[in-house]
Amino acid sequence: MEVSGAIIALKLMKLKFLMVCSLALTMFLTGCGDKNNDSENAEATQPAVEEAEPDPLASLNIPENDVIADDTYSNLQLTDVKKPVYDRYTLWERQAKNLPMQLPEITPYTEGKVAYLTFDDGPDAKNTPAILDILKNYGVPGTFYVVGQMVEANPDVLKRIFDEGHAIGNHSYNHEYNQLYPSTENFLKQLTKTDDIIKSVIGVRPLILRTPGGQWGMWTDDYPPLMKACGYVEHDWNCSVEDATYKRPSAQQMIKYIDQQTNEELNGNAAIILMHSNGGKENTVSALPGIIELLQNKGYTFGVITPMTPQPY
Ligand SMILES: [Zn+2]
Repeated sequence: MEVSGAIIALKLMKLKFLMVCSLALTMFLTGCGDKNNDSENAEATQPAVEEAEPDPLASLNIPENDVIADDTYSNLQLTDVKKPVYDRYTLWERQAKNLPMQLPEITPYTEGKVAYLTFDDGPDAKNTPAILDILKNYGVPGTFYVVGQMVEANPDVLKRIFDEGHAIGNHSYNHEYNQLYPSTENFLKQLTKTDDIIKSVIGVRPLILRTPGGQWGMWTDDYPPLMKACGYVEHDWNCSVEDATYKRPSAQQMIKYIDQQTNEELNGNAAIILMHSNGGKENTVSALPGIIELLQNKGYTFGVITPMTPQPY
């Protein structure tokens, strides 16, 4: 019927988009930056013709602190490090609307020492909610790099992350290195799939990305230009509680690691701290209050990762 016909049409468009991605990287590099400055789209139709295309954001409860990218990404140079950034469109929706996918140049925010608490590999049903409770207690924002299949399993936890004003980033669909890193095509497929899953839960999608394992050592030279052309901004880290390593540190050791690592001068005044929020990371949950207090005592404020966050190294 009409609805299923529309869904099929959308799926076909998406499939087409993915094929284009895989077949022609060069097309991305030239075509993605091709801006259509004639913005007669969303804003003009919003108030008047509700039936034709109702603004999907109107029905969502977007936290008022959040920044939703405009059509041309012109509103992402911020002065507040606590504002999460999202896009109302997926990549293939941008392509269908002939909107730019590549971000404009954004100056990194380097004023004052900022700590970015990042939590990868969730959301799970236990440790992620516990982390959210702690962040709420301290009034501190965090950034959650989520895995698509974990979002499918725990959509309510993703919604809570969003509703409580934290940032959400893409961390692939299944986190399997042997499926992600043979080719940029596989990688991009997992990113767009995860974008769709995230958007189905919260109504918007992230622009920020953390590649599983970190880009250092995982990415070939092919990855950065593709990510740039598609508007994804990747951030590795420069501090770590080592909770995904063989060391299996105690909570006290984790606090000590962060103390030591933040004694060094960090790129862009940014302490980007790698932690994990999935099963088995109970020590990280236990360490978090101590880490927050340590950083507060050292004069850090807390921010969320956005496209303007400095690179960690
Ligand atoms: Zn990970």
